[in-house]
Amino acid sequence: MIPSESPAGRTPRQALDALPRQRLTFLPTPLAPLARLSAALGGPELWIKRDDQTGLATGGNKSRKLEFLVGAALAGGHDTLLTAGAAQSNHCRQTAAAAAASGLACVLVLGGEEPELAEGNVLLDRLFGAEIHWTPGARRGERLAALAHTLAAQGRRPYVIPYGGSNEVGAAGYLLAAAELASQMESAALKFDRIFVASSSGGTLAGLLAGQRAFAFSGRLSAVLIDAEAPAGSHAARVAALANRTVRGLGWSGASRAEEMDVWESFLGAGYGIVGSLEREAIQRLARAEGILLDPVYTARAFGALLALIDRGDIGRDERVLFWHTGGTPALFPYGPALLEDRTR
Ligand SMILES: *Cc1c(COP(=O)(O)O)cnc(C)c1O
Repeated sequence: MIPSESPAGRTPRQALDALPRQRLTFLPTPLAPLARLSAALGGPELWIKRDDQTGLATGGNKSRKLEFLVGAALAGGHDTLLTAGAAQSNHCRQTAAAAAASGLACVLVLGGEEPELAEGNVLLDRLFGAEIHWTPGARRGERLAALAHTLAAQGRRPYVIPYGGSNEVGAAGYLLAAAELASQMESAALKFDRIFVASSSGGTLAGLLAGQRAFAFSGRLSAVLIDAEAPAGSHAARVAALANRTVRGLGWSGASRAEEMDVWESFLGAGYGIVGSLEREAIQRLARAEGILLDPVYTARAFGALLALIDRGDIGRDERVLFWHTGGTPALFPYGPALLEDRTR
């Protein structure tokens, strides 16, 4: 267990509050019931945590990580944020916005060929003034170290943010988010049976896993794996290791284990970024029942998995389940017609 006081005599919350942090978000994000959809399903009782409304440049989970990453970059005297992702990376778009909001330059390494039309997140990257390097076949930051070297040789001071912002610095954003949820649950006298979230680079889940020990709230963490780059079974172990490195960096003892969460690895469809009927139907369902938008790559897959597990009976109709919406709205636009067609009917 994480002690309520770190060796320096600080509570977990005080240790977090002592980290360098650049405010980029409007917090807390809403915690709201999905009453119409829950009634239509006949249970479970579904709730949503609206991190699609974090406030920076159409929102999303990366903004919470970037508060600490940009805080560290500014504290270290850097002048440029350097990161990488897929062409429609929400992480890169939020990094470009965070740089603009903080007086920093931004260099992005995006996977693929430069598209003819700047759409969705690419359009926004451009509007925020990011310098974009296109790299076919590499979207996980493979070129970051070499590019950082080149920028430094040009006299710039790049701060390298790994793929997805998922290191000990970025994961602190979701430790703080865990504290936020714990206090919202306490004031509403709410308990959850499960907490569903999409997971890819793992920083969001790592912060929540560590945060659940530090701030003690109910709900088994249930992550839906979005991207099958890593061998099956290893995602939970990597996430637990990051959770423990993150809390150790704050002076707490880390003891989170992979078994403390469920990682659903069987909803990968036809691959990363490919919309199938699971994603399309989840987007339409939530949009039509609640007026809430999911994104085609991450949250549609995670919410679609949640609906499938309810349908299969793996989640009881009497449970109360929180879905953590992690954002991604701008990616809806480049997917256009793929979101409307319905091959299953
Ligand atoms: C990046 C992202 C995720 C995954 O978060 P990780 O911390 O990388 O696991 C989920 N949803 C959206 C919309 C994202 O952009």
